[in-house]
Amino acid sequence: MLADRAAFWLTVIALSVGFLTFAAWLFVGQSITFAIERMATVMVITCPHALGLAIPLVVAMSTSLSAKNGLLIKNRSAFENARKISVVVFDKTGTLTEGKFGVSSVKSTDGNHDEKEIIKFASALEKSSEHPIARGILEKAQELGISVPDVSDFEAIKGKGVQGIVDGQNVKVVSPGYLKEMGMDIPDHAKDEQLTVVFILKDENIIGTISLADKIREDSYEAIQKLRELGIKCWMLTGDNNQIAKKVNDELKLDGYFAEVLPHEKLEKVKELQSKNEYVAMTGDGVNDAPALAQADVGIAIGSGTDIAAETADIILVESNPKDVTSLILFGRATYKKMIQNLVWATGYNLFAIPLAAGVFYKWGIIISPAVYLLILWKTAIFLYFTAIPYYVFVELLTVYCYMW
Ligand code: ADP
Ligand code: MG
Repeated sequence: MLADRAAFWLTVIALSVGFLTFAAWLFVGQSITFAIERMATVMVITCPHALGLAIPLVVAMSTSLSAKNGLLIKNRSAFENARKISVVVFDKTGTLTEGKFGVSSVKSTDGNHDEKEIIKFASALEKSSEHPIARGILEKAQELGISVPDVSDFEAIKGKGVQGIVDGQNVKVVSPGYLKEMGMDIPDHAKDEQLTVVFILKDENIIGTISLADKIREDSYEAIQKLRELGIKCWMLTGDNNQIAKKVNDELKLDGYFAEVLPHEKLEKVKELQSKNEYVAMTGDGVNDAPALAQADVGIAIGSGTDIAAETADIILVESNPKDVTSLILFGRATYKKMIQNLVWATGYNLFAIPLAAGVFYKWGIIISPAVYLLILWKTAIFLYFTAIPYYVFVELLTVYCYMW
């Protein structure tokens, strides 16, 4: 981090210039007392000085400001690097959309099962799942007054669905991608569905489909628009089907999307963007997003998402608002600018103060003892404070204050 590097060099400078001063005065024939006094003045000025505090203070300010703006920063260097982000990859479900699915239709495929039976089998499995789709299906079961049967041997098929044994039969609730992979035909009515569709399989036969609708978050529109105005590309990655992904893509005017991707493929896509020299931020909420969150240069989790996503991410959007990604980037940029600004002030100031303290102007009768120096420093600080040079001066004051007491 910038602060650590600055502090390191500051210490090196303080010590070496201090000793150099000492040696130089001895060399030109001054007394040891005089030499030590000059050395001490140099070290006092440089060491606890603003250069070392210029950055940490900005860090402290920006952390508390970020917290007030809904950003929980777990990893500071990721935050400092937020200014470099060139691509933001969003997960769809639960990130760009609300992740609250409502069942909009249930269809029988084999003609032998009615709506209630299809929901019954599906809800038996979904009882054990954390996925937002599961909640939607369970709500529907409740609405229809279905008593949900028990499941055994429950298993999540990562990024594709769930399976288990219900009433002695092997039941699955899966994505279109799973069917394709198994070489099964997708029922005609589900082919160009612009909703999220899951298929209910009993002993490897499709018995029905459930279509679920999710809403795009109100804030997503503005979030994407702002990011694109900042010249940042926005991509979407989703495990959901291609039609719905396209619909969300068109509606939000994204730069592009990848649909029906599995968790490890999300990670691969992030890597692919990185290999094109992009600085990638990944925003997600699900278990399936965790590998990509870890791979991204900046991992951002939605607050309302799963614990694994929050655990893996560098930054958490406490309010679950995708717009806060924009604030994060703007904040990262502003913080960095302020750090550099403070560094310039502090360096410029030291360029003048260190020679003065070392006694370079002794020949002209200008010599300052450490105590007097502090007094001058203090007055300058007050002067600068009223001429409004923000943080840096505050730090200066603080330093002087600590020294006087
Ligand atoms: P996203 O990337 O959009 O967050 P996921 O990777 O979590 O989506 O899920 C991808 C697809 O896998 C879903 O659209 C759904 O078809 C299927 N799926 C995953 N989990 C479940 C579940 N518990 N019940 C039904 N379908 C599921
Ligand atoms: Mg998700």
